[in-house]
Amino acid sequence: MVTVSRTRVAVVGGGPAGVVLGLLVARAGIEVRVVEKHDDFNRDFRGDTVHASTIRLLDELGLGDRFRALPQSRLDDFSLPMPDGSRVLLGDFSRLRPPYDHVAMVPQWDLLDMLVTAARQEPAFSISMGLAATGTIEENGVVTGVHLRPYRGADGEPEELRADVVIACDGRDSVLRSAAGLRPRSFQVPFDTWWFRLPREPGDAATALVPAFDGEDVVLSFPRPDYHQVAFFAPKGSDAAIRAAGVEAFRARIARIRPDFAGRIDAIASTDDVHVLDVRMDRLARWWKPGLLCIGDAAHAMSPAGGVGINLAVQDAVATAGILVPALRHDLRGADLDRALAAVERRRTPPAVVVQTAQSVLHRVVFERAFRGELQGGPPKLPVLLARWVPPVRGVYARGIAFGPLPEHAPSWARR
Ligand SMILES: Cc1cc2nc3c(=O)[nH]c(=O)nc-3n(C[C@H](O)[C@H](O)[C@H](O)COP(=O)(O)OP(=O)(O)OC[C@H]3O[C@@H](n4cnc5c(N)ncnc54)[C@H](O)[C@@H]3O)c2cc1C
Repeated sequence: MVTVSRTRVAVVGGGPAGVVLGLLVARAGIEVRVVEKHDDFNRDFRGDTVHASTIRLLDELGLGDRFRALPQSRLDDFSLPMPDGSRVLLGDFSRLRPPYDHVAMVPQWDLLDMLVTAARQEPAFSISMGLAATGTIEENGVVTGVHLRPYRGADGEPEELRADVVIACDGRDSVLRSAAGLRPRSFQVPFDTWWFRLPREPGDAATALVPAFDGEDVVLSFPRPDYHQVAFFAPKGSDAAIRAAGVEAFRARIARIRPDFAGRIDAIASTDDVHVLDVRMDRLARWWKPGLLCIGDAAHAMSPAGGVGINLAVQDAVATAGILVPALRHDLRGADLDRALAAVERRRTPPAVVVQTAQSVLHRVVFERAFRGELQGGPPKLPVLLARWVPPVRGVYARGIAFGPLPEHAPSWARR
């Protein structure tokens, strides 16, 4: 038995893009249903950096106090290590105007739970967990809904959800994007990332972000309230070799590059504690087709360099709401509604291009050189010299990371 239901806006995917979009559209009083395939948001090793642009947005939405009450740590600066053991302060968030003078590290599930709780206060909002979109419903080349099925054997019936517009927020492996025949262009990324946790100890630096380079290895650790979330970078395709070499060899690699972690490295009990992320960077040339729009990772999967994926996804959602809500209020349909979808693509492609271009440069000048063992003599000279001798440059770097290009503001009807 297939249940048929209807909403005005069907949002597929309850990640940062989908949940923020659901909240904003509902605050405009327009019926919106978010569909998330998992039963909860409790997946580990998802992105969890919340940049100043997103914190400012949460303040505009009246959610700043709830956000600040979530367990979190903060990054106040980022530095690069020098061969003599010193550090060069590259980006200094304290040069930005408070309270938007840091990057917060918040478990993504806490952020999503908080946003969904706020959205549930809106009568126009609903969310269905444990339901996966399996494809689009199309009539005469126009997407008019999605096919839904209980995810991984969950209880429930298949469903056809009809909508005025479908927004694909289903991440970098977007099912809806494929079903709609939209193909992203992939860009070369030289590395994958292996994530694991190590305990925090008294005396660990609380707020700094400093990559460590040694030989061909790169490690970056994010201080969290009670543990370090650690990322190990190695050339793409190394996973089988890392696992074949075994946990002892992996521990030794980490301890060599971060001697301060050596005493606690046994917390990695086996290579099962090390989660590989197949890093990808891609972007759609066209983000929409009639009746359907892709945003967030579904439109542009980001490299983890700079940790900006969540923030771009959130900004996409804000721009989408700002453009789509007036169109839906005027009950635009057909080509008129498509123009709104195209306007989102026009508005959000430039920031995605700028950030992905910056990430490609970082891949070349930092990661590729590190994997060739060429960073032993220190990081690239020009940005370091500028940061060292022209202090305002540290604020420029910090602003670029904290706000990124074309940050969005909450539309007036969504503010509380
Ligand atoms: C290991 C890792 C670490 C990262 N670290 C950072 C970081 O530190 N900072 C940062 O900013 N970014 C980071 N990122 C990237 C960041 O997580 C993403 O860019 C961001 O979450 C994208 O948001 P999104 O809403 O577009 O997609 P996603 O967060 O991928 O959300 C998509 C949602 O759709 C759901 N879904 C998928 N398919 C279906 C379907 N068929 N039906 C229904 N639901 C579906 C998924 O379950 C998921 O909840 C990281 C990513 C990974 C994987």
